[in-house]
Amino acid sequence: MDNLNYNNINNLNNDNLSNDSLDSITAEILHKIDIDINSLYITGLQVAYYKHCKRKAYLFSKKIQFEHTSEFIELGKLLEQKYFKEEESLDSFDKPVKIDFYTIDNEVIIHEIKRSDKTEESHIYQVKYYIWYLKNKGINCNKGIIHYPRLAKKIEITLENNDYLEIPNILLEIDKLIRSNDVPKPIRISICNNCSYFYYCYV
Ligand code: SF4
Repeated sequence: MDNLNYNNINNLNNDNLSNDSLDSITAEILHKIDIDINSLYITGLQVAYYKHCKRKAYLFSKKIQFEHTSEFIELGKLLEQKYFKEEESLDSFDKPVKIDFYTIDNEVIIHEIKRSDKTEESHIYQVKYYIWYLKNKGINCNKGIIHYPRLAKKIEITLENNDYLEIPNILLEIDKLIRSNDVPKPIRISICNNCSYFYYCYV
């Protein structure tokens, strides 16, 4: 672990890591590659966008944002208000982490509300990042729940061993992406039709 750097974090083999050692190893990784998660200030949305479209992550990070004009984003906010308005938000708790709400059952359980599961993988990584972040802040949080109220569906999220290495790597990749002057090209995928950047990318 002595020669960790920006490029070789992917080469770590975590097959033999025990759960007990993962937290301390994560801290060691952050130290060795000199990540200060506070100075990086990467949000869950950036992680989610990065997982399904690097161009979207780039544009969003550069403050080129159209969410306020997107009916899909507005619908998501309405769903949040309709189904979960009594719950507590973590908005003011820790700025890069804008969790929809949390509950406490011996430990903190975080909740995210989504309109559609079309980009479910990106939602999963968003929640994994929140769990990982809070754990690194010393908060007893090991589980998140993603709610899809319109689909009457919810999924539970926990960190797997490889996440302790993959998530810091994603943060580094996002940091590298947003420092670059190269705007990733549009990718034609099915979710483009519902993306708030559709007109920016294709019209
Ligand atoms: S429209 Fe498609 S290519 Fe453009 S940002 Fe959205 S997902 Fe990415």
